[in-house]
Amino acid sequence: MTSNPNTDAATDAPETRDFVRELIRRELAEGRVDRVVTRFPPEPNGFLHIGHAKAICLNFGVAEEFGGLCNLRFDDTNPAKEEQAYIDAILEDVRWLGFDWGDRLFHASDYFDQLYAWAEHLIETGHAYVDDQSADEMRANRGTLTEPGTDSPYRGRSVAENLDLFRQMRDGAFPEGARVLRAKIDMASGNINLRDPVLYRIVDREHPRTGRTWSIYPSYDFAHGQSDAIEGITHSLCTLEFEAHRPLYDWLLDHLPVPSRPRQFEFARLNLAHTVLSKRVLTALVKEGVVDGWDDPRMPTLAGLRRRGVPPEAIRDFAKAVGVARADNLVEIAMFDHAVRDALNPSAPRRMAVLRPLKVVIENYPEGETEQLDAANNPQDPEAGSRRIAFGRELYIERDDFLEDPPKKFFRLAPGREVRLRYAYFITCREVVKDAAGEVVELRCTYDPATRGGDAPDGRKVKGTLHWVSATDSFRAEARLINPLFSSPEPDVSRFHEEINPGSLEVLDDVRCEMALKDLSVGEVVQFERLGYFTPDRDGDDDRPVFNRTVGLRDTFSRTLPSGKR
Ligand code: ATP
Ligand code: MG
Repeated sequence: MTSNPNTDAATDAPETRDFVRELIRRELAEGRVDRVVTRFPPEPNGFLHIGHAKAICLNFGVAEEFGGLCNLRFDDTNPAKEEQAYIDAILEDVRWLGFDWGDRLFHASDYFDQLYAWAEHLIETGHAYVDDQSADEMRANRGTLTEPGTDSPYRGRSVAENLDLFRQMRDGAFPEGARVLRAKIDMASGNINLRDPVLYRIVDREHPRTGRTWSIYPSYDFAHGQSDAIEGITHSLCTLEFEAHRPLYDWLLDHLPVPSRPRQFEFARLNLAHTVLSKRVLTALVKEGVVDGWDDPRMPTLAGLRRRGVPPEAIRDFAKAVGVARADNLVEIAMFDHAVRDALNPSAPRRMAVLRPLKVVIENYPEGETEQLDAANNPQDPEAGSRRIAFGRELYIERDDFLEDPPKKFFRLAPGREVRLRYAYFITCREVVKDAAGEVVELRCTYDPATRGGDAPDGRKVKGTLHWVSATDSFRAEARLINPLFSSPEPDVSRFHEEINPGSLEVLDDVRCEMALKDLSVGEVVQFERLGYFTPDRDGDDDRPVFNRTVGLRDTFSRTLPSGKR
Protein backbone atom coordinates (compact mmCIF):
# COMPACT_ATOMS: atom_id res chain seq x y z
CA MET A 1 0.00 0.00 0.00
CA THR A 2 1.39 3.39 -0.92
CA SER A 3 1.25 6.05 1.71
CA ASN A 4 -0.90 9.08 1.24
CA PRO A 5 1.12 12.19 2.02
CA ASN A 6 -1.97 14.04 3.13
CA THR A 7 -3.19 11.54 5.67
CA ASP A 8 0.39 11.17 6.85
CA ALA A 9 0.47 14.90 7.33
CA ALA A 10 -2.81 14.62 9.19
CA THR A 11 -1.38 12.22 11.73
CA ASP A 12 1.32 14.81 12.41
CA ALA A 13 -1.68 16.69 13.79
CA PRO A 14 -1.16 20.44 13.54
CA GLU A 15 -1.21 21.75 17.08
CA THR A 16 -4.11 24.09 16.33
CA ARG A 17 -7.39 22.30 16.86
CA ASP A 18 -10.60 23.84 15.66
CA PHE A 19 -13.70 22.55 13.92
CA VAL A 20 -12.29 23.14 10.42
CA ARG A 21 -9.07 21.27 11.13
CA GLU A 22 -10.94 18.50 12.97
CA LEU A 23 -13.28 18.10 10.01
CA ILE A 24 -10.42 17.92 7.51
CA ARG A 25 -8.50 15.49 9.67
CA ARG A 26 -11.57 13.23 9.84
CA GLU A 27 -12.25 13.47 6.12
CA LEU A 28 -8.68 12.59 5.22
CA ALA A 29 -8.65 9.70 7.69
CA GLU A 30 -11.93 8.32 6.33
CA GLY A 31 -10.81 8.83 2.75
CA ARG A 32 -13.68 11.18 1.91
CA VAL A 33 -11.15 13.59 0.47
CA ASP A 34 -7.62 12.78 -0.60
CA ARG A 35 -6.13 16.27 -0.53
CA VAL A 36 -6.81 19.78 0.71
CA VAL A 37 -7.13 22.72 -1.64
CA THR A 38 -8.39 26.02 -0.22
CA ARG A 39 -8.53 29.55 -1.57
CA PHE A 40 -8.57 33.09 -0.29
CA PRO A 41 -11.05 35.03 -2.46
CA PRO A 42 -10.80 38.79 -1.93
CA GLU A 43 -12.96 41.17 -3.89
CA PRO A 44 -10.63 43.98 -5.08
CA ASN A 45 -12.93 46.76 -3.86
CA GLY A 46 -10.83 47.91 -0.91
CA PHE A 47 -7.74 47.13 1.15
CA LEU A 48 -7.41 43.99 3.25
CA HIS A 49 -8.09 44.35 6.97
CA ILE A 50 -7.45 42.36 10.12
CA GLY A 51 -10.63 40.31 9.51
CA HIS A 52 -9.32 39.25 6.12
CA ALA A 53 -6.08 38.31 7.87
CA LYS A 54 -8.05 35.79 9.88
CA ALA A 55 -9.41 34.25 6.67
CA ILE A 56 -5.95 34.31 5.03
CA CYS A 57 -4.30 32.63 8.01
CA LEU A 58 -7.04 30.00 8.06
CA ASN A 59 -6.98 29.17 4.35
CA PHE A 60 -3.21 29.26 3.87
CA GLY A 61 -2.62 27.74 7.32
CA VAL A 62 -4.90 24.75 6.79
CA ALA A 63 -3.43 24.05 3.35
CA GLU A 64 0.12 24.18 4.68
CA GLU A 65 -0.59 22.02 7.73
CA PHE A 66 -2.26 19.29 5.70
CA GLY A 67 0.24 19.32 2.85
CA GLY A 68 -2.27 20.92 0.48
CA LEU A 69 -2.51 24.05 -1.62
CA CYS A 70 -4.08 27.46 -1.19
CA ASN A 71 -5.02 29.62 -4.17
CA LEU A 72 -5.27 33.37 -4.16
CA ARG A 73 -8.28 34.25 -6.26
CA PHE A 74 -9.60 37.69 -6.96
CA ASP A 75 -13.37 37.73 -6.97
CA ASP A 76 -13.33 40.42 -9.65
CA THR A 77 -16.89 40.22 -10.88
CA ASN A 78 -18.08 43.77 -10.27
CA PRO A 79 -16.11 46.36 -12.26
CA ALA A 80 -18.35 49.09 -10.88
CA LYS A 81 -16.48 48.91 -7.57
CA GLU A 82 -13.16 47.24 -8.32
CA GLU A 83 -9.81 48.82 -9.15
CA GLN A 84 -6.34 47.70 -10.18
CA ALA A 85 -4.89 49.69 -7.25
CA TYR A 86 -6.77 47.41 -4.86
CA ILE A 87 -5.49 44.30 -6.63
CA ASP A 88 -1.91 45.55 -6.23
CA ALA A 89 -2.42 46.44 -2.57
CA ILE A 90 -3.97 43.05 -1.80
CA LEU A 91 -1.06 41.18 -3.39
CA GLU A 92 1.42 43.25 -1.38
CA ASP A 93 -0.49 42.70 1.86
CA VAL A 94 -0.87 38.93 1.52
CA ARG A 95 2.84 38.64 0.79
CA TRP A 96 3.69 40.93 3.71
CA LEU A 97 1.56 38.81 6.01
CA GLY A 98 3.87 35.95 5.11
CA PHE A 99 1.93 33.81 2.65
CA ASP A 100 2.96 32.58 -0.75
CA TRP A 101 0.48 31.59 -3.41
CA GLY A 102 3.30 30.41 -5.71
CA ASP A 103 1.94 30.15 -9.24
CA ARG A 104 -1.64 29.88 -8.04
CA LEU A 105 -2.83 33.43 -8.56
CA PHE A 106 -6.26 33.36 -10.20
CA HIS A 107 -9.12 35.66 -11.03
CA ALA A 108 -12.79 34.89 -11.38
CA SER A 109 -12.42 36.85 -14.62
CA ASP A 110 -10.12 34.06 -15.90
CA TYR A 111 -13.28 31.97 -16.04
CA PHE A 112 -15.68 34.41 -17.69
CA ASP A 113 -15.85 32.31 -20.89
CA GLN A 114 -16.56 29.12 -18.96
CA LEU A 115 -19.08 30.81 -16.67
CA TYR A 116 -20.85 32.23 -19.69
CA ALA A 117 -21.02 28.80 -21.31
CA TRP A 118 -22.46 27.36 -18.10
CA ALA A 119 -25.07 30.10 -17.99
CA GLU A 120 -26.19 29.05 -21.48
CA HIS A 121 -26.20 25.46 -20.25
CA LEU A 122 -28.63 26.42 -17.48
CA ILE A 123 -30.83 28.19 -20.03
CA GLU A 124 -30.77 25.20 -22.35
CA THR A 125 -31.72 22.81 -19.55
CA GLY A 126 -34.59 25.08 -18.49
CA HIS A 127 -32.90 26.24 -15.30
CA ALA A 128 -32.40 29.91 -16.09
CA TYR A 129 -34.32 32.72 -17.73
CA VAL A 130 -33.94 36.35 -18.71
CA ASP A 131 -36.03 38.66 -16.56
CA ASP A 132 -37.06 42.15 -17.76
CA GLN A 133 -38.40 43.31 -14.40
CA SER A 134 -36.81 46.41 -12.93
CA ALA A 135 -34.76 46.12 -9.74
CA ASP A 136 -37.70 47.58 -7.79
CA GLU A 137 -40.15 45.10 -9.25
CA MET A 138 -37.84 42.23 -8.51
CA ARG A 139 -37.46 43.39 -4.93
CA ALA A 140 -41.23 43.74 -4.53
CA ASN A 141 -41.83 40.27 -5.98
CA ARG A 142 -39.17 38.53 -3.92
CA GLY A 143 -41.50 38.19 -0.93
CA THR A 144 -40.35 38.29 2.65
CA LEU A 145 -39.11 35.90 5.30
CA THR A 146 -42.73 35.00 6.05
CA GLU A 147 -44.34 35.38 2.61
CA PRO A 148 -43.43 33.58 -0.59
CA GLY A 149 -42.31 35.53 -3.63
CA THR A 150 -44.26 35.98 -6.85
CA ASP A 151 -43.18 34.46 -10.15
CA SER A 152 -41.84 36.92 -12.67
CA PRO A 153 -44.12 37.38 -15.72
CA TYR A 154 -41.03 36.47 -17.81
CA ARG A 155 -40.37 33.21 -16.01
CA GLY A 156 -42.10 31.13 -18.69
CA ARG A 157 -39.98 32.31 -21.64
CA SER A 158 -38.88 29.64 -24.09
CA VAL A 159 -35.32 28.37 -24.18
CA ALA A 160 -34.86 29.93 -27.61
CA GLU A 161 -36.09 33.35 -26.48
CA ASN A 162 -33.95 33.22 -23.33
CA LEU A 163 -30.86 32.29 -25.33
CA ASP A 164 -31.48 35.04 -27.83
CA LEU A 165 -32.00 37.69 -25.14
CA PHE A 166 -29.04 36.52 -23.08
CA ARG A 167 -26.77 36.71 -26.12
CA GLN A 168 -28.02 40.21 -26.81
CA MET A 169 -27.25 41.11 -23.19
CA ARG A 170 -23.74 39.78 -23.73
CA ASP A 171 -23.39 41.80 -26.94
CA GLY A 172 -24.26 45.04 -25.21
CA ALA A 173 -27.69 45.50 -26.77
CA PHE A 174 -29.31 46.75 -23.53
CA PRO A 175 -28.51 49.42 -20.96
CA GLU A 176 -27.52 48.65 -17.36
CA GLY A 177 -30.39 47.30 -15.32
CA ALA A 178 -32.61 46.54 -18.31
CA ARG A 179 -32.47 42.78 -17.87
CA VAL A 180 -30.85 40.09 -15.73
CA LEU A 181 -30.36 36.36 -16.03
CA ARG A 182 -31.91 34.45 -13.14
CA ALA A 183 -31.77 30.85 -12.02
CA LYS A 184 -35.18 29.20 -12.19
CA ILE A 185 -35.45 27.55 -8.79
CA ASP A 186 -38.39 28.33 -6.53
CA MET A 187 -40.02 31.69 -5.79
CA ALA A 188 -41.72 30.15 -2.77
CA SER A 189 -38.59 28.69 -1.19
CA GLY A 190 -38.16 29.26 2.53
CA ASN A 191 -34.62 30.34 1.66
CA ILE A 192 -34.75 33.70 -0.09
CA ASN A 193 -31.44 32.93 -1.81
CA LEU A 194 -33.24 30.21 -3.78
CA ARG A 195 -35.98 32.55 -5.05
CA ASP A 196 -34.63 32.71 -8.58
CA PRO A 197 -31.31 34.39 -7.70
CA VAL A 198 -29.61 36.67 -10.21
CA LEU A 199 -26.79 35.00 -12.14
CA TYR A 200 -25.80 37.76 -14.55
CA ARG A 201 -26.33 41.49 -14.69
CA ILE A 202 -25.48 44.15 -17.23
CA VAL A 203 -22.63 46.44 -16.15
CA ASP A 204 -21.49 49.17 -18.50
CA ARG A 205 -17.96 49.59 -17.13
CA GLU A 206 -14.42 48.83 -18.09
CA HIS A 207 -13.08 45.81 -16.22
CA PRO A 208 -9.49 46.09 -14.88
CA ARG A 209 -8.52 42.85 -16.64
CA THR A 210 -11.01 42.12 -19.39
CA GLY A 211 -11.52 45.73 -20.45
CA ARG A 212 -14.63 46.11 -22.59
CA THR A 213 -14.90 42.45 -23.60
CA TRP A 214 -17.97 41.91 -21.46
CA SER A 215 -21.19 43.83 -20.98
CA ILE A 216 -22.50 41.31 -18.47
CA TYR A 217 -20.92 40.08 -15.26
CA PRO A 218 -21.69 37.05 -13.09
CA SER A 219 -23.03 37.49 -9.58
CA TYR A 220 -20.98 36.41 -6.57
CA ASP A 221 -23.14 33.31 -6.19
CA PHE A 222 -22.75 32.25 -9.78
CA ALA A 223 -19.01 32.93 -9.92
CA HIS A 224 -17.87 31.63 -6.59
CA GLY A 225 -18.76 27.96 -6.45
CA GLN A 226 -18.06 27.44 -10.13
CA SER A 227 -14.62 29.03 -9.76
CA ASP A 228 -14.03 26.73 -6.79
CA ALA A 229 -14.99 23.76 -8.97
CA ILE A 230 -12.69 24.83 -11.82
CA GLU A 231 -9.76 25.16 -9.42
CA GLY A 232 -10.43 21.85 -7.68
CA ILE A 233 -11.05 23.53 -4.33
CA THR A 234 -11.96 20.91 -1.74
CA HIS A 235 -12.93 23.17 1.16
CA SER A 236 -14.44 26.55 0.37
CA LEU A 237 -14.14 28.32 3.73
CA CYS A 238 -16.18 31.46 4.13
CA THR A 239 -17.81 33.53 6.83
CA LEU A 240 -21.17 32.76 8.41
CA GLU A 241 -23.19 35.26 6.40
CA PHE A 242 -22.84 32.84 3.48
CA GLU A 243 -24.48 29.98 5.35
CA ALA A 244 -27.84 30.73 3.78
CA HIS A 245 -26.16 30.80 0.36
CA ARG A 246 -24.89 27.23 0.73
CA PRO A 247 -28.04 25.61 -0.73
CA LEU A 248 -27.59 27.81 -3.81
CA TYR A 249 -23.87 26.99 -3.94
CA ASP A 250 -24.84 23.29 -4.00
CA TRP A 251 -27.77 23.74 -6.39
CA LEU A 252 -25.56 25.35 -9.02
CA LEU A 253 -22.90 22.65 -8.74
CA ASP A 254 -25.63 20.00 -9.01
CA HIS A 255 -27.03 21.53 -12.19
CA LEU A 256 -23.77 22.18 -14.05
CA PRO A 257 -21.21 19.85 -15.65
CA VAL A 258 -18.46 21.06 -13.30
CA PRO A 259 -15.09 19.25 -13.16
CA SER A 260 -15.01 18.85 -9.36
CA ARG A 261 -17.30 19.04 -6.38
CA PRO A 262 -16.15 21.56 -3.75
CA ARG A 263 -18.03 22.05 -0.50
CA GLN A 264 -18.58 25.23 1.47
CA PHE A 265 -17.98 25.53 5.21
CA GLU A 266 -18.67 28.62 7.27
CA PHE A 267 -16.84 30.11 10.24
CA ALA A 268 -17.46 33.18 12.39
CA ARG A 269 -15.98 36.42 11.12
CA LEU A 270 -13.61 38.38 13.30
CA ASN A 271 -15.23 41.22 15.22
CA LEU A 272 -12.82 43.48 17.03
CA ALA A 273 -13.92 45.92 19.72
CA HIS A 274 -13.73 49.65 18.87
CA THR A 275 -13.16 48.68 15.24
CA VAL A 276 -15.26 48.65 12.10
CA LEU A 277 -14.42 46.01 9.50
CA SER A 278 -17.09 46.90 6.98
CA LYS A 279 -15.44 47.75 3.67
CA ARG A 280 -18.27 50.14 2.92
CA VAL A 281 -17.48 52.17 6.02
CA LEU A 282 -13.71 51.94 5.58
CA THR A 283 -14.09 53.15 2.00
CA ALA A 284 -16.22 56.07 3.19
CA LEU A 285 -13.62 57.03 5.83
CA VAL A 286 -10.98 57.16 3.10
CA LYS A 287 -13.09 58.89 0.43
CA GLU A 288 -14.36 61.53 2.87
CA GLY A 289 -10.86 62.21 4.19
CA VAL A 290 -11.80 61.30 7.76
CA VAL A 291 -8.54 59.35 7.82
CA ASP A 292 -5.27 59.81 5.94
CA GLY A 293 -5.89 57.09 3.34
CA TRP A 294 -6.18 53.31 3.54
CA ASP A 295 -2.88 53.12 5.41
CA ASP A 296 -3.74 55.64 8.11
CA PRO A 297 -2.20 54.02 11.20
CA ARG A 298 -5.60 54.12 12.92
CA MET A 299 -7.17 51.97 10.21
CA PRO A 300 -7.64 48.23 10.83
CA THR A 301 -6.21 47.57 7.37
CA LEU A 302 -3.02 45.56 6.99
CA ALA A 303 -1.48 48.63 5.34
CA GLY A 304 -2.48 50.77 8.34
CA LEU A 305 -1.21 48.24 10.85
CA ARG A 306 2.07 47.99 8.94
CA ARG A 307 2.46 51.78 8.97
CA ARG A 308 1.74 51.73 12.69
CA GLY A 309 4.64 49.32 13.15
CA VAL A 310 2.73 46.09 13.78
CA PRO A 311 4.85 43.17 12.55
CA PRO A 312 3.18 40.47 10.44
CA GLU A 313 3.96 37.74 12.97
CA ALA A 314 1.88 39.61 15.55
CA ILE A 315 -1.11 39.42 13.21
CA ARG A 316 -0.54 35.72 12.55
CA ASP A 317 -0.19 35.03 16.28
CA PHE A 318 -3.33 37.03 16.97
CA ALA A 319 -5.28 35.04 14.37
CA LYS A 320 -4.09 31.85 16.02
CA ALA A 321 -5.06 33.09 19.47
CA VAL A 322 -8.52 34.14 18.27
CA GLY A 323 -9.07 30.71 16.74
CA VAL A 324 -11.77 29.55 14.37
CA ALA A 325 -15.27 28.82 15.61
CA ARG A 326 -18.87 28.86 14.45
CA ALA A 327 -20.10 31.30 17.09
CA ASP A 328 -19.81 35.05 16.67
CA ASN A 329 -17.99 36.95 19.38
CA LEU A 330 -16.28 40.25 20.04
CA VAL A 331 -12.52 40.25 20.53
CA GLU A 332 -11.00 42.82 22.87
CA ILE A 333 -8.35 45.20 21.55
CA ALA A 334 -6.24 44.22 24.56
CA MET A 335 -5.84 40.78 22.99
CA PHE A 336 -4.51 42.26 19.77
CA ASP A 337 -2.18 44.62 21.62
CA HIS A 338 -0.89 41.72 23.66
CA ALA A 339 0.07 39.85 20.47
CA VAL A 340 1.83 42.97 19.17
CA ARG A 341 3.87 43.41 22.37
CA ASP A 342 4.76 39.73 22.44
CA ALA A 343 6.04 39.92 18.88
CA LEU A 344 8.05 43.10 19.42
CA ASN A 345 9.41 42.56 22.91
CA PRO A 346 12.19 40.07 22.11
CA SER A 347 13.67 42.00 19.21
CA ALA A 348 12.84 45.71 19.39
CA PRO A 349 15.90 47.76 20.40
CA ARG A 350 15.41 49.93 23.49
CA ARG A 351 15.87 53.65 23.07
CA MET A 352 15.13 56.72 25.15
CA ALA A 353 12.80 59.50 24.19
CA VAL A 354 10.79 61.95 26.24
CA LEU A 355 7.26 62.61 24.98
CA ARG A 356 6.42 65.64 27.15
CA PRO A 357 9.73 67.16 28.20
CA LEU A 358 10.46 68.86 31.50
CA LYS A 359 13.87 70.46 31.81
CA VAL A 360 16.27 69.33 34.51
CA VAL A 361 19.46 71.23 35.37
CA ILE A 362 22.09 69.28 37.30
CA GLU A 363 23.61 72.09 39.38
CA ASN A 364 26.73 70.25 40.46
CA TYR A 365 27.55 68.96 36.96
CA PRO A 366 30.33 71.00 35.29
CA GLU A 367 29.06 73.52 32.81
CA GLY A 368 29.86 72.81 29.14
CA GLU A 369 30.89 69.22 29.79
CA THR A 370 29.26 66.05 28.48
CA GLU A 371 30.10 62.36 28.82
CA GLN A 372 29.08 59.18 27.01
CA LEU A 373 27.36 56.45 28.98
CA ASP A 374 26.74 52.84 28.01
CA ALA A 375 23.14 51.78 27.49
CA ALA A 376 22.03 48.22 26.70
CA ASN A 377 20.11 47.86 23.43
CA ASN A 378 17.99 45.14 24.96
CA PRO A 379 18.50 44.20 28.62
CA GLN A 380 16.87 40.81 27.93
CA ASP A 381 19.22 40.04 25.06
CA PRO A 382 22.96 40.58 25.74
CA GLU A 383 23.65 39.77 22.06
CA ALA A 384 21.91 43.00 21.10
CA GLY A 385 24.91 44.93 22.44
CA SER A 386 24.91 48.49 23.68
CA ARG A 387 25.17 52.05 22.49
CA ARG A 388 26.50 55.32 23.89
CA ILE A 389 24.20 58.03 25.14
CA ALA A 390 25.21 61.57 26.03
CA PHE A 391 24.80 62.91 29.56
CA GLY A 392 25.31 66.53 30.54
CA ARG A 393 24.25 69.35 32.80
CA GLU A 394 20.89 69.92 31.06
CA LEU A 395 18.47 67.06 30.54
CA TYR A 396 14.82 66.36 29.86
CA ILE A 397 12.63 64.02 31.82
CA GLU A 398 8.97 63.17 31.32
CA ARG A 399 6.65 65.80 32.78
CA ASP A 400 4.54 62.98 34.28
CA ASP A 401 7.54 61.76 36.21
CA PHE A 402 7.54 64.76 38.51
CA LEU A 403 4.92 65.81 41.05
CA GLU A 404 5.37 68.68 43.40
CA ASP A 405 3.02 67.19 45.91
CA PRO A 406 3.09 63.43 45.29
CA PRO A 407 0.51 60.96 46.61
CA LYS A 408 1.72 58.00 48.65
CA LYS A 409 2.29 55.50 45.85
CA PHE A 410 4.15 57.90 43.57
CA PHE A 411 7.79 56.77 43.51
CA ARG A 412 9.12 59.09 40.86
CA LEU A 413 10.66 62.53 41.24
CA ALA A 414 9.43 65.06 43.80
CA PRO A 415 11.05 67.87 45.78
CA GLY A 416 13.83 66.49 47.98
CA ARG A 417 13.49 63.00 46.51
CA GLU A 418 16.23 60.90 44.91
CA VAL A 419 15.63 58.76 41.79
CA ARG A 420 17.77 56.89 39.27
CA LEU A 421 18.22 58.15 35.73
CA ARG A 422 18.42 54.98 33.67
CA TYR A 423 22.03 54.03 32.70
CA ALA A 424 23.27 57.28 34.31
CA TYR A 425 23.20 58.58 37.89
CA PHE A 426 21.05 59.10 40.93
CA ILE A 427 19.70 62.63 41.05
CA THR A 428 17.93 64.55 43.80
CA CYS A 429 15.45 67.34 43.19
CA ARG A 430 16.51 70.48 45.04
CA GLU A 431 14.32 73.23 43.67
CA VAL A 432 11.26 73.73 41.48
CA VAL A 433 11.23 76.62 39.03
CA LYS A 434 7.85 77.98 37.90
CA ASP A 435 6.73 80.53 35.36
CA ALA A 436 4.45 83.48 36.01
CA ALA A 437 1.40 81.24 35.59
CA GLY A 438 2.66 78.92 38.28
CA GLU A 439 3.52 76.11 35.89
CA VAL A 440 6.62 74.05 36.61
CA VAL A 441 9.16 74.84 33.88
CA GLU A 442 12.41 73.49 35.28
CA LEU A 443 13.82 71.35 38.06
CA ARG A 444 17.14 72.15 39.73
CA CYS A 445 18.75 68.90 40.79
CA THR A 446 22.06 67.52 41.98
CA TYR A 447 23.63 64.22 40.96
CA ASP A 448 25.81 61.80 42.88
CA PRO A 449 28.95 61.18 40.75
CA ALA A 450 29.56 57.92 42.66
CA THR A 451 26.42 56.37 41.15
CA ARG A 452 27.65 56.33 37.53
CA GLY A 453 25.92 53.56 35.58
CA GLY A 454 22.92 53.67 37.90
CA ASP A 455 24.07 51.93 41.11
CA ALA A 456 25.11 53.33 44.47
CA PRO A 457 28.33 51.79 45.83
CA ASP A 458 27.01 52.28 49.38
CA GLY A 459 24.02 50.04 48.54
CA ARG A 460 21.51 52.86 48.90
CA LYS A 461 18.24 52.19 47.04
CA VAL A 462 15.87 54.41 45.13
CA LYS A 463 12.33 53.47 44.27
CA GLY A 464 12.06 55.15 40.90
CA THR A 465 14.01 54.83 37.65
CA LEU A 466 13.29 57.43 34.98
CA HIS A 467 14.10 57.67 31.31
CA TRP A 468 15.66 60.91 30.12
CA VAL A 469 17.58 62.50 27.26
CA SER A 470 20.34 65.09 27.14
CA ALA A 471 19.03 68.56 26.29
CA THR A 472 21.99 69.33 24.05
CA ASP A 473 22.63 65.92 22.47
CA SER A 474 19.13 65.03 21.40
CA PHE A 475 16.77 65.99 18.62
CA ARG A 476 13.20 67.07 18.39
CA ALA A 477 10.47 64.97 16.77
CA GLU A 478 6.74 64.53 16.50
CA ALA A 479 5.00 61.54 18.02
CA ARG A 480 1.59 60.29 16.96
CA LEU A 481 -0.20 58.31 19.60
CA ILE A 482 -2.61 55.97 17.83
CA ASN A 483 -5.76 55.25 19.80
CA PRO A 484 -8.92 53.32 18.88
CA LEU A 485 -10.74 54.94 15.97
CA PHE A 486 -14.17 54.32 17.50
CA SER A 487 -15.28 55.22 21.00
CA SER A 488 -17.73 52.44 21.71
CA PRO A 489 -16.80 48.75 21.74
CA GLU A 490 -19.44 47.95 19.12
CA PRO A 491 -19.85 51.05 16.96
CA ASP A 492 -23.18 51.51 15.23
CA VAL A 493 -22.11 51.58 11.58
CA SER A 494 -25.28 53.35 10.49
CA ARG A 495 -24.00 56.46 12.30
CA PHE A 496 -20.29 55.83 12.15
CA HIS A 497 -19.37 59.52 11.86
CA GLU A 498 -20.67 60.16 15.35
CA GLU A 499 -18.94 57.07 16.68
CA ILE A 500 -15.45 58.27 15.82
CA ASN A 501 -13.19 58.68 18.85
CA PRO A 502 -12.21 62.38 18.93
CA GLY A 503 -8.97 61.30 20.65
CA SER A 504 -8.05 58.66 18.08
CA LEU A 505 -4.93 60.58 17.12
CA GLU A 506 -2.88 62.50 19.70
CA VAL A 507 -0.04 64.50 18.20
CA LEU A 508 2.87 65.50 20.44
CA ASP A 509 5.13 67.95 18.66
CA ASP A 510 7.95 68.49 21.15
CA VAL A 511 9.28 64.99 21.69
CA ARG A 512 13.00 64.76 22.55
CA CYS A 513 14.91 61.77 21.23
CA GLU A 514 18.34 60.33 21.89
CA MET A 515 20.64 60.58 18.88
CA ALA A 516 20.60 56.84 18.08
CA LEU A 517 17.00 57.30 16.92
CA LYS A 518 18.25 59.35 13.97
CA ASP A 519 19.39 56.20 12.18
CA LEU A 520 16.02 54.51 12.22
CA SER A 521 14.26 53.85 8.93
CA VAL A 522 10.61 53.39 8.10
CA GLY A 523 9.60 49.84 8.96
CA GLU A 524 11.88 49.51 11.99
CA VAL A 525 10.31 49.43 15.42
CA VAL A 526 11.96 50.35 18.71
CA GLN A 527 10.83 50.48 22.29
CA PHE A 528 10.91 53.93 23.83
CA GLU A 529 11.78 52.86 27.36
CA ARG A 530 8.84 52.99 29.75
CA LEU A 531 6.56 54.36 27.00
CA GLY A 532 5.82 51.83 24.31
CA TYR A 533 6.82 50.71 20.85
CA PHE A 534 7.36 53.35 18.18
CA THR A 535 8.21 53.37 14.48
CA PRO A 536 9.17 56.19 12.10
CA ASP A 537 6.32 57.37 9.90
CA ARG A 538 6.86 58.15 6.23
CA ASP A 539 5.43 61.65 6.81
CA GLY A 540 8.60 62.57 8.67
CA ASP A 541 11.94 63.75 7.28
CA ASP A 542 15.39 64.58 8.64
CA ASP A 543 14.31 68.01 9.79
CA ARG A 544 11.14 66.81 11.34
CA PRO A 545 11.08 63.11 12.20
CA VAL A 546 7.69 61.59 13.01
CA PHE A 547 7.13 58.48 15.12
CA ASN A 548 3.94 56.45 15.36
CA ARG A 549 3.19 54.66 18.57
CA THR A 550 2.62 51.04 17.60
CA VAL A 551 1.35 50.06 21.04
CA GLY A 552 1.89 51.13 24.62
CA LEU A 553 3.68 48.94 27.13
CA ARG A 554 0.57 48.27 29.13
CA ASP A 555 -3.13 48.24 28.48
CA THR A 556 -3.90 51.89 28.99
CA PHE A 557 -6.05 52.65 25.98
CA SER A 558 -9.32 52.92 27.89
CA ARG A 559 -7.93 56.12 29.42
CA THR A 560 -7.88 57.65 25.97
CA LEU A 561 -11.61 57.20 25.40
CA PRO A 562 -14.16 59.86 26.25
CA SER A 563 -15.61 59.30 29.71
CA GLY A 564 -18.63 57.05 29.77
CA LYS A 565 -17.15 54.77 27.12
CA ARG A 566 -14.56 53.07 29.27
P1 ATP B 1 -17.64 42.80 1.02
O1 ATP B 1 -17.89 41.45 0.43
O2 ATP B 1 -18.76 43.35 1.82
O3 ATP B 1 -17.03 43.79 0.09
P2 ATP B 1 -15.76 41.39 2.63
O4 ATP B 1 -15.05 41.93 3.83
O5 ATP B 1 -16.57 40.17 2.74
O6 ATP B 1 -16.56 42.61 2.13
P3 ATP B 1 -14.21 40.06 0.59
O7 ATP B 1 -13.13 40.62 -0.25
O8 ATP B 1 -15.37 39.46 -0.07
O9 ATP B 1 -14.67 41.23 1.52
O10 ATP B 1 -13.58 39.04 1.63
C1 ATP B 1 -12.67 38.03 1.27
C2 ATP B 1 -12.75 36.91 2.26
O11 ATP B 1 -12.45 37.38 3.57
C3 ATP B 1 -14.13 36.30 2.31
O12 ATP B 1 -14.01 34.90 2.28
C4 ATP B 1 -14.68 36.78 3.61
O13 ATP B 1 -15.55 35.83 4.16
C5 ATP B 1 -13.43 36.94 4.48
N1 ATP B 1 -13.65 37.95 5.50
C6 ATP B 1 -14.09 39.21 5.32
N2 ATP B 1 -14.23 39.85 6.50
C7 ATP B 1 -13.87 38.97 7.46
C8 ATP B 1 -13.80 39.03 8.90
N3 ATP B 1 -14.15 40.13 9.57
N4 ATP B 1 -13.38 37.92 9.54
C9 ATP B 1 -13.02 36.82 8.87
N5 ATP B 1 -13.06 36.70 7.53
C10 ATP B 1 -13.48 37.76 6.83
MG1 MG C 1 -17.45 39.37 0.71
